[in-house]
Amino acid sequence: VRAEVVAVGDELLAGDIVNANAAWLGAQLAARGISVSRGVVVGDRVGEIAAAIREGLARADAVVLTGGLGPTSDDLTREGLAAAAGVRLVRDGHLEAVLTRRPGRSGRPVPGNNLRQADLPEGARALPNPVGTAPGIALEIGSGLVVALPGPPHELAAVFADSAGPLLARRAGSDSVLVTRVLRTVGMWESAVSEALAPEVDRVAAAGNPVIAFLASEGQTRVRITARATGRAAAEALIAPVEAAARAALSRHLYGVDDDTLEAVTLRLLSAAGATLACAESLTGGLLSARLTSVPGASAVVLGGVVAYATAAKSAQLGVPPDVLARDGAVSATAARAMASGVRERFGATYGLALTGVAGPGEQEGRPPGTVHVAMVGPGVARDVALLLPGDRERVRTYAAVAAVDLLRRTLVPDVRTPER
Ligand code: ATP
Repeated sequence: VRAEVVAVGDELLAGDIVNANAAWLGAQLAARGISVSRGVVVGDRVGEIAAAIREGLARADAVVLTGGLGPTSDDLTREGLAAAAGVRLVRDGHLEAVLTRRPGRSGRPVPGNNLRQADLPEGARALPNPVGTAPGIALEIGSGLVVALPGPPHELAAVFADSAGPLLARRAGSDSVLVTRVLRTVGMWESAVSEALAPEVDRVAAAGNPVIAFLASEGQTRVRITARATGRAAAEALIAPVEAAARAALSRHLYGVDDDTLEAVTLRLLSAAGATLACAESLTGGLLSARLTSVPGASAVVLGGVVAYATAAKSAQLGVPPDVLARDGAVSATAARAMASGVRERFGATYGLALTGVAGPGEQEGRPPGTVHVAMVGPGVARDVALLLPGDRERVRTYAAVAAVDLLRRTLVPDVRTPER
């Protein structure tokens, strides 16, 4: 079963808000065996809404709309639905009574506009909204199903969970289940990941099932494997060999699956080792600590950190020897290592992790923007990595923080390449 998603609202077209509902619906529909074959955004105009519905039904089995169901005059999804179906809007007595009798309304007249939310295209059915006033709407047009959902994300989620999701899942039937597995990698550019998996991609391309997709962000690449089958077990059986081949090809670049995050995985490894961590940061100004402490329970392993931005602060706060700074500069492997040792000592942590570099846009100490040194010091280990990261200041800082977490992760992860005895 294929669906098209239509997001309604001039504010989406103007860029005032981001179309997060479409992304959310894409994932929710996929989980119910419905693949989204197209997504569009239309303005608050009846003709455009109706056209998007009609065009969607010409190509797909269902059209799912979000937005434009509220009480104001620019909420025109109801009118668009009626126009697409060629029917009238009729006031639903039950909905009207519910709107009139809402708690807090007693005695006060309902503004006329609000009652528009009791209007339904002839033949449509209301999908109750447990957290707002505007109900969703389900309408059959020919052999197609049209479902309109409220725009506010929490209302969308509530109506979808209660009624729209199950309704669409029934339409998809139990013979079409989509199962997705996400493999999360770090330290490999997207092109390198896709090259490593090219043989697997070619192997499955002919059947078109499962489908392998690559998604890159923040120096990490996700590999999404999606299989369609008659049931969950059959879909998982299609995914298994692809996943096994991908795991072998990605080796230690693979840090987790599905909802894992690099930070959570790394903190779990620290915790399993009974170890603690302190961070020293220059170019990232605290981003590394912020990322690590965004994980619930981080306080069990993260002791603290120091932002030593000025060169003098690296000596004063972290004990980096001034002669190291004078000889090698503040952006150097030796400075990074001394920062890591310094922060480790000062906090009494098992591991010290440090970052120094040039975020840009200008160069520093003759080093180009994107030059980054990451160092890690722990019991019997001292490692550092030199990177030349692409992108603007924001990207360099983000990638640097990710690279630091990954250096720590790789030090902690049991070495998969160690031969078994
Ligand atoms: P309301 O009763 O609030 O008017 P509605 O169904 O008419 O609900 P809209 O008026 O279109 O919805 O949008 C209300 C709010 O919901 C928007 O201001 C925005 O915050 C959010 N919203 C709407 N559409 C989207 C979308 N596609 N993605 C993310 N947020 C959205």
